[in-house]
Amino acid sequence: MNDQFRNPSKALYHAERLDRLAEVAVRVGLGLKPGQEVVMTAPLEALALVRRITEHAYKAGASLVTTFFSDEESTLMRFRHGRDEGFDSASSWLYEGMAAAYRNGAARLAIVGEDPSLLAQQDPEKVSRANRARSKAYMPALNLIAGFDTNWTIVAAATPAWAKAVFPNDPEEVAVAKLWDAIFAASRADVADPIAAWGTHNANLQARTRMLNEKNYAALHFRGPGTDLRVGLADGHEWNGGSTKAKNGIVCNANIPTEEVFTTPHKVRVDGYVASTKPLSYQGTLIQDIQVRFENGRIVESKARTGEAVLTKVLDTDEGARRLGEVALVPNSSPISQSGLLFLNTLFDENASSHIALGQAYSKCIKDGGTMSEEELASRGANKSLIHIDWMIGSGEVDVDGITASGQAEPLIRRGEWVTS
Ligand code: ZN
Ligand code: ZN
Repeated sequence: MNDQFRNPSKALYHAERLDRLAEVAVRVGLGLKPGQEVVMTAPLEALALVRRITEHAYKAGASLVTTFFSDEESTLMRFRHGRDEGFDSASSWLYEGMAAAYRNGAARLAIVGEDPSLLAQQDPEKVSRANRARSKAYMPALNLIAGFDTNWTIVAAATPAWAKAVFPNDPEEVAVAKLWDAIFAASRADVADPIAAWGTHNANLQARTRMLNEKNYAALHFRGPGTDLRVGLADGHEWNGGSTKAKNGIVCNANIPTEEVFTTPHKVRVDGYVASTKPLSYQGTLIQDIQVRFENGRIVESKARTGEAVLTKVLDTDEGARRLGEVALVPNSSPISQSGLLFLNTLFDENASSHIALGQAYSKCIKDGGTMSEEELASRGANKSLIHIDWMIGSGEVDVDGITASGQAEPLIRRGEWVTS
């Protein structure tokens, strides 16, 4: 595979870090409880990590680990040779089964590592239909995940196609090795005691969320090149960051890595314009230099330098796709931002920068949201949609103010960094 495996000491080093990442995934990511089932999804190329995770999961007391592998070459066969009417269908039986597993207490672990431009050459209409069908079929399971009915986590594995997209000028083995290095570093799996490092990191993020929850700002104001955006926050919004206590009482870290503190915007109280600060890699298409304008929470104008057709299709997914479901603050000094890499994967790139997400809100980010009906959540300003797509609006040139209920502006972030340490 890659030259780390031909050099014995490097191979050991790789195996050791892979094992630490697996331990982080099970102990920090899932917080797996003895007797719990695990449902895992992974690309075929992540088999080595899947095996390490499976081992750690059983050692932690998992009752059963079930893994579903995906293969991108096979996905392409569908777009090249699949019947047209097939693009409106999805494996609903699979997603129903997953939803049933989560309802019965199973933990959910996803390994990501997709080729960021896998579907770039395929018919955007088919891509969009397939995505819509999949989103619809996945909705019941997604609701359980988004609502933290169970503990879940996402971790990454360096796959050859992804690595080549991030490091196009390197041979495949070198690109894969470099991407693994970046994943281990960002996931805090390359330190002597990753579990302790995550403990400290979670405590820092929680201090930040406590401060923001005490402030209970009415809105955030972003200013920077191409950006002057006021994001009203949902009534009774709650800031989250780092670990989360799921409804089953288990403390998990849903994203490995994570650097963000995030909450729910008010779906009708967003006004002004905003420019993306990093490309958005969305299901095979790179959408660059997004510029949108909001009126009463809704995107009324949008353009992008590349991928505009895909962006437009995304915005037309449903009524909620033009409104915000998340706003997140990340300092420019985050290790991912400082790596200078564009990972072309939201799990990493969203943690390099403050961001907003189009679409579905997290009920977890509304006080007592987990026990509210959809109508109650909507009345607080929480948005609803089939999509949830994060895109980056922060940089070293962006300032953020918190706006109090009485309209006073308090500096939160200046030139990309927190004002208070
Ligand atoms: Zn986020
Ligand atoms: Zn998000």
